[in-house]
Amino acid sequence: MTLAPIDCDIHPVLPGLASLAPYLDPHWREQIVARGLDEQESISYPKNAPLTARADFRAPSRAGTDPRHLAAEALDPFGTGLAICNCLYGVQLPFSEDLGAALASALNDWIAREWLDRDQRFRASIVVPTQSPARAAAEIARLAPDRRFVQVLMLANDSAPLGNRAWWPIYEEASRHCLPVGIHAGSSYRHAVTGIGWPSYYIEDYAAQAQSFQSQLASLIAEGVFAKFPDLVFVFIESGWTWLPAFLWRFTKFWRGLRAEVPWVAAPPAEIVRARVRFTLQPIDAPEDPAVLLRVLEHIGSDRLLLFSTDHPHWQFDGTAAIPACFPEALAQRVLAENALETYPRLAASVRGGNAPPPPGADAAEENGPGETR
Ligand code: ZN
Repeated sequence: MTLAPIDCDIHPVLPGLASLAPYLDPHWREQIVARGLDEQESISYPKNAPLTARADFRAPSRAGTDPRHLAAEALDPFGTGLAICNCLYGVQLPFSEDLGAALASALNDWIAREWLDRDQRFRASIVVPTQSPARAAAEIARLAPDRRFVQVLMLANDSAPLGNRAWWPIYEEASRHCLPVGIHAGSSYRHAVTGIGWPSYYIEDYAAQAQSFQSQLASLIAEGVFAKFPDLVFVFIESGWTWLPAFLWRFTKFWRGLRAEVPWVAAPPAEIVRARVRFTLQPIDAPEDPAVLLRVLEHIGSDRLLLFSTDHPHWQFDGTAAIPACFPEALAQRVLAENALETYPRLAASVRGGNAPPPPGADAAEENGPGETR
């Protein structure tokens, strides 16, 4: 049976802070006006630049703001059965954890009402206020009964390396609800995006995100997150993945020499990554020659790591040619749907149940932990 594709990275765009007003409590609704709070969007994606969204996917309204338009452009051409909405509105930016928590809750409620309620194919990530891991965990617990939320969403650049123990309450709550943790390119701008200081240009910022993903991968492994949470899966989103083989060669080589300092890392890092980390497909930082791309996949050493994504409506992805033509049929099928079903227990439950979204609060008994699905 051919499974309908599952798009693991689409971007609904909040039209503006005013759109969250109906989902904020009276205090915060008043505060946004009284303080003259402006948009929380980070500058990591230049929304006003002509190339922010693909020209052929420009909606009459701002790209990504209309669920029907996004479905027509990003889901229908692929016959996509399910798509995960990753809203990148910058709730992580305010230094106030109270404001961050209020905005995160409002954003998640907005996604549920304005997107998930409008198209049965939409699923979403829970955006969490990382200013406070405890409040982030509370937000996961609040949303988890709505099984259309299938993942927890964090940014590749936050206030500290993501393996640090301070983040573990988030992982504990995600693990409790069998929710993978997605890490998307982006920043709360507590630190420079490069390891050597602030760059001048967006091209530097965007290219440097791969450094951040490498550092986060090293942090998650070295700090023992995978050992502490044996069922937890991480999904690197819009991270690129052609850098992965060289990074794993280097990290695994030095693990062999230095493993005495991290005794909880009991397996070679490359093995841990193959078992517990997934990567969205687009945008691909791929070489021109398809033979070289296939060799990169060979170096990665598994056909289970990549998850289909369009990254709609951003401009970097390859439109309807999102799956490289050189991918063999069996690999394409894995990437289009099978890998996502192994990664996201709630998507697997949906597909088994005929793709209809379960009602909020549905019994979680059928859920398998990610560790049990592969
Ligand atoms: Zn993305």
